[in-house]
Amino acid sequence: MAVVPLQTKHTLSPITNNITTSHRPSLLRITCSVTTTNKSPLLSNDTSLHSTWTHRLWVSAGCTTVSISFAKSIIGGFSSHLWLEPALAGFAGYILADLGSGMYHWATDNYGDESTPLVGTHIKDSLDHHECPWTITERGFANNLHFLARGTTLMVLPLDLAFDDHVFHGFVSMFAFCVLFCQQFHVWAHGTKSKLPPLVVALQDSGVLVSRTRHVDHHRAPFNNNYCVVSGVWNKCLDESKFFEALEMVLYFKLGVKPRSWTEPDSEWSEETDISKC
Ligand SMILES: [Zn+2]
Ligand SMILES: [Zn+2]
Repeated sequence: MAVVPLQTKHTLSPITNNITTSHRPSLLRITCSVTTTNKSPLLSNDTSLHSTWTHRLWVSAGCTTVSISFAKSIIGGFSSHLWLEPALAGFAGYILADLGSGMYHWATDNYGDESTPLVGTHIKDSLDHHECPWTITERGFANNLHFLARGTTLMVLPLDLAFDDHVFHGFVSMFAFCVLFCQQFHVWAHGTKSKLPPLVVALQDSGVLVSRTRHVDHHRAPFNNNYCVVSGVWNKCLDESKFFEALEMVLYFKLGVKPRSWTEPDSEWSEETDISKC
């Protein structure tokens, strides 16, 4: 089987910025070797990475429903003078959204394919991301967010219409906001530190958003950890308890389905980074 090396000027070096120089190899370069059997790698000029008006409309709809939920929480806070409860509910939403992002990411990384109903497109995007991780930074903003924006819109709109409880909307708005934007947080985890907005770098460095140094481990063997991409706060607990591995065993023995992480990826990855470009 012929293997074509694909080398690029885009590197994962940004995510190694937090590694002290003494621990970094002097030369890091990313080499992505992609099999040429029946698929071609995504390239930065691939039109499938561009945002369409449909993508933008879904992201706008998602932002609108989340904003309505947030407004209901704030308005309820002013009228009831109860702020602690919605604030705590919002914090719970932020924490649980990280867990939700990990569960969803694990599922799409390991099961199903392009033909899977509802989520097939997103599974394909996830697999493409693992073949050539840097291309996520080349995706248009709405292209990257539109899929989860659809889910957010369809879930939050009925809640906006049916409920007025401001504590409930404190939870819903923060949870939905983090789900809607988790792919953007993921993009930033692949970004060049020097090119990211200082606020984003500060949020990453303080652990509010998933860090680059932790996320890079997701793209290294054994490719079965660090699935959470909001804050990443659940990653240590889930990985050390082998939660996903246990879930994979249960699914295998119950349904006979093997996760993709049990087999070697068909792309070969090695990392070599020129740290002078960081
Ligand atoms: Zn993944
Ligand atoms: Zn990634």
